[in-house]
Amino acid sequence: MRKMRKYRLWCEDGGSKDVEAPNLAAAVERLKRWVRGRDWGDEGARVWGEVTRLRGGRLIEDETATVTVEIEPDHTALMRRAGAPPDCDHEWSSEGGGGCTENPGVWGGKGMVIFHSAHCIHCGLQRVVQTTDSQRNRYEHDTVKYRMPSSGELAEMRAEGMVEPPDAE
Ligand SMILES: [Zn+2]
Repeated sequence: MRKMRKYRLWCEDGGSKDVEAPNLAAAVERLKRWVRGRDWGDEGARVWGEVTRLRGGRLIEDETATVTVEIEPDHTALMRRAGAPPDCDHEWSSEGGGGCTENPGVWGGKGMVIFHSAHCIHCGLQRVVQTTDSQRNRYEHDTVKYRMPSSGELAEMRAEGMVEPPDAE
């Protein structure tokens, strides 16, 4: 049996926890799981955590590691909140949503931000994913937004062939 060591975990939301692990690499894996399991809401996030070895109740400064963990958005919860029909088997298309012709649905924003837009061809639900340059914005993360078009917008999208007519099935 391997000898267990003590490590203290910290995370961006102010939480901390002491765990036992055989070595720093194993403690880092514990850290990632613990950070991922905390409550980050539905939007997703990029969060940091830190682990430092504890020996005799003292922190060992040179046995420490930091990690950045990507928390995936809860797409189902976000779509439901946007008012999307729960029974739609969403199928995404970037056609007709703006952007340049070689790369429909993609356009640049301020600085290093890029937007990818798409809509569901069945119900018209709109999705915009905003990507940032993670090298520059270390603690920023990709965000996703869902929006249900108004009935007028939906009629327009149907007229343009972006969305199927309501009696398609
Ligand atoms: Zn849909």
